[in-house]
Amino acid sequence: MQRRYIPAVVLFIAILVFLAHLGARMTAVPVISYAEEEKEIYLTFDDGPSTVVTGRILDTLKEEGVKGTFFVVGERIAGREDVLARIAREGHTLGVHSYTHRYGEIYASDGALLEDVRRCKALIEKTAGVTPAVYRFPGGGTKDYARQKALLEGEGFAVIAWNAVCGDEEIPHASAETLTETAVKTAKGKNRVILLLHDSAPHRATAQALPAIIARFRDMGYVFKQF
Ligand SMILES: [Zn+2]
Repeated sequence: MQRRYIPAVVLFIAILVFLAHLGARMTAVPVISYAEEEKEIYLTFDDGPSTVVTGRILDTLKEEGVKGTFFVVGERIAGREDVLARIAREGHTLGVHSYTHRYGEIYASDGALLEDVRRCKALIEKTAGVTPAVYRFPGGGTKDYARQKALLEGEGFAVIAWNAVCGDEEIPHASAETLTETAVKTAKGKNRVILLLHDSAPHRATAQALPAIIARFRDMGYVFKQF
């Protein structure tokens, strides 16, 4: 062998030895794909409680062993105290959405926003016996989002937005199949999905779609989380 080739040969052998070690390590240790391990989804339900839809959603979550997060409307609790209590009793997270859900009133001033939030929080505490620590802006918030978010954080809330939707508000009269496909499509490429769903009275298709939504994300390797 010519002398000038020796460094190149040594380097080549070193690379082979390194790759062999790497191969041995990869076969010796069970390989867990990090991308798969880190995939998580939060099912978040806005605008409830309602009697039928929330009840069906809770039934499905129980059957599937999945916990969700419910951002409730204070005014809708009257007459459905048992539904609200069931959400807490079955281990789901209760969050504040709004007392009235009327944008004109809530966003009239900082004082109005805080009063709306405090009323809803107090009613949840009184009815379900838990203190909510998460909040979601009705309608997703205003152009004052950053400032109002800081205001809510000052009240002790974590403000939770969303990054995927099932389309139950966006697509009129969507079927359960459409809602399922929309959830999968809008979550595409995201390892941490916060899915927006609604459990208010008109959203029977959402309750109907939930088993398929859970199955699809489970098949894709997502772990279900709650706030
Ligand atoms: Zn809402």
